[in-house]
Amino acid sequence: MLPDYTDYFLVKKREIAMDFQAILEEIHKEVQPVISHGKVAGYIPKLAAVPLEKFGMAVQTLDGDLFTVGDAAENFSIQSISKAYSLTLALKFIGEDRLWQRVGREPSGNPFNSLVQLEYENGIPRNPFINAGALVIVDIIISNSKNPSQTILDFVRQRSNNPEIDFDADVAASEKKTGFRNSALANFLKSYANLENSVDSVLNTYFLQCSLSMNCIDLTKSFLMFANHGLSPWSGKQILSESHAKRINSLMLTCGTYDAVGDFVYRVGLPGKSGIGGGIAAFIPGKLSVCVWSPGLNSHGNSLAGTLALELFTTKTGMSIF
Ligand code: GLN
Repeated sequence: MLPDYTDYFLVKKREIAMDFQAILEEIHKEVQPVISHGKVAGYIPKLAAVPLEKFGMAVQTLDGDLFTVGDAAENFSIQSISKAYSLTLALKFIGEDRLWQRVGREPSGNPFNSLVQLEYENGIPRNPFINAGALVIVDIIISNSKNPSQTILDFVRQRSNNPEIDFDADVAASEKKTGFRNSALANFLKSYANLENSVDSVLNTYFLQCSLSMNCIDLTKSFLMFANHGLSPWSGKQILSESHAKRINSLMLTCGTYDAVGDFVYRVGLPGKSGIGGGIAAFIPGKLSVCVWSPGLNSHGNSLAGTLALELFTTKTGMSIF
């Protein structure tokens, strides 16, 4: 007797018939009551001034279709989402063996800017996405390129297919003025000999990287390389080996949203990377990338309405990695 393929075909049909535009519009309406409950990042003055009511979302499929809603084309400060790009670069520069001698790959269970954890773990940050880990990653980029900030910028522009993308010097300066915790973390790392370059150069490059100003469309375009097993669809270039893409994607799943990662993955079911500018970029391998921006944060520093929007997206579409 032939096997019964009915369920398989039903699933396929559901995906083909998906009206992403209508789903994004529904989500836009449904998150409205939650938007004002978030709090903008207060410790970077420039970010504290961003209007709370902004909301944008974009979906980019591997078939080349783009769907957007709200402020999806408006630039915002991507902050820690940039750590997905810098990890990609660092991995390309020095490979896995050397990289994992200097940074761990376990969820932190602590706030992203925790100092305590770094001390009791002897200067080896728990993972590359918490601030301490990202500072080590920036140090690797500095040691391996002539003009580190330009290297990061060129990489992001190419991956997003948008030469207009730039740093926001005002945001970087604003963070530098109040960046006491990051400066403490960098000094700590230096005391454990886990920075090769000067504390100042690492901090300056880190603040610039975090200040990248991009919109949801740029982010979904660049995140397609993670959804597409390391191959960037725009250039047709294999940016990461399939194996490295698998590893970075796994890290985004387990560490991409800090000490809220359990709740985030439970609700959303996707790997992704958040930033305190209120953006979250996520993706479904083999299918699509999705980015949301809503500046109001929850107590863990992830976008409050953004997390809900992604939860609604995977619930309404029935698509996640599980
Ligand atoms: N630039 C921010 C910081 O270092 C990034 C943190 C974040 O987005 N979670 O505090």
